[in-house]
Amino acid sequence: MKRIIVTGGAGFLGSYLCERLLNEGNKVISVDNYFTGSNENIKHMHSNPNFEYIRHDITEPIFIECDEIYNFACPASPIHYQKNPIATFKTNVLGILNMLNLARDCNAKILQASTSEVYGDPLEHPQNEKYWGHVNPNGIRSCYDEGKRSAETLMMDYKRMYNTDIKIIRIFNTYGPKMNIEDGRVVSNFIVQALKNEDITVYGDGSQTRSFCYATDLIDGAIKTMNKDNFTGPVNLGNDYEMTILDFAKNIIEMTNSKSKIIYKDLPQDDPIKRKPDLTLAKKELKWDNQVDLQMGIKNTIEYFKTII
Ligand code: NAD
Ligand code: UDP
Repeated sequence: MKRIIVTGGAGFLGSYLCERLLNEGNKVISVDNYFTGSNENIKHMHSNPNFEYIRHDITEPIFIECDEIYNFACPASPIHYQKNPIATFKTNVLGILNMLNLARDCNAKILQASTSEVYGDPLEHPQNEKYWGHVNPNGIRSCYDEGKRSAETLMMDYKRMYNTDIKIIRIFNTYGPKMNIEDGRVVSNFIVQALKNEDITVYGDGSQTRSFCYATDLIDGAIKTMNKDNFTGPVNLGNDYEMTILDFAKNIIEMTNSKSKIIYKDLPQDDPIKRKPDLTLAKKELKWDNQVDLQMGIKNTIEYFKTII
């Protein structure tokens, strides 16, 4: 039985990961400071004797014997990571430093939840892992983007200096049931607005693109990456079905049978204009691909939000 730490285990993706790792017969320890996460996400696992949950901020060191660490702690939604940008940067840099020291001292494997944001507002399309990105170093998204880029640097330096067994996944926009209703990300915002027949808030003219990956597919890719020997990445994980935000809004209105109208608001600073992962590496090395298409995933997510509104 492996002892696995999931930082950010009470968050949206972290809680899926804890559940899946428990179901596979591991001992799982969630480490979370509940900044954006919630006990609601993990309470169904509390009674499982193989599950532990610890309130802890990863910017402070911690010592727990373990075989693997999945570092998912970090607010992911722009409104949350911009609320306290210095804390976000510290979580990304001091947090991963503490987790890397723990991995080195326990001789554990460590996987970092990096992001498509390391490509910034990309000048190459689709984004391939070899692309170094186009990132504003001092804008309002930098605490997250540059924090995640620094975390990748530290990961690679621990591998080079200490031969730590590291893995880096670059997650593209991921959604699904259990997203926080107040999260502020486009999927939850549009679905909740549509279900309440409120205005749908498209930022800018809606011509910017994203592609959306379902949570269980993402978690499958993360676990495959951790389990693949002699594979470091970075590897893109996401969905390559790209669409404009305006088309996405129309799609949500149609799928919810909503009376909502689309309204336009200012595009936030440095909002990437185009984003789509090149998934060649993940498909080849991990034999991984998406199983849940957008229509099915959005349908499940709509059903989830209906139950909590
Ligand atoms: P989330 O905000 O739901 O979860 C993040 C979790 O980390 C929360 O439970 C939060 O309380 C916890 N946390 C934050 N700071 C912490 C700290 N200093 N110490 C301990 N815990 C802390 O976000 P999510 O969507 O589940 O994202 C999880 C990870 O995946 C993040 O690292 C994020 O950057 C990455 N990611 C997510 C997406 C996505 O689309 N969901 C895309 C790219 C990258
Ligand atoms: N967006 C939008 N309306 C919203 C929330 C987001 O038009 O209510 C846009 C946002 O400007 C961005 C895209 O949707 O272009 C995805 O935003 P999200 O915050 O979900 O993730 P990002 O990819 O920006 O990190």
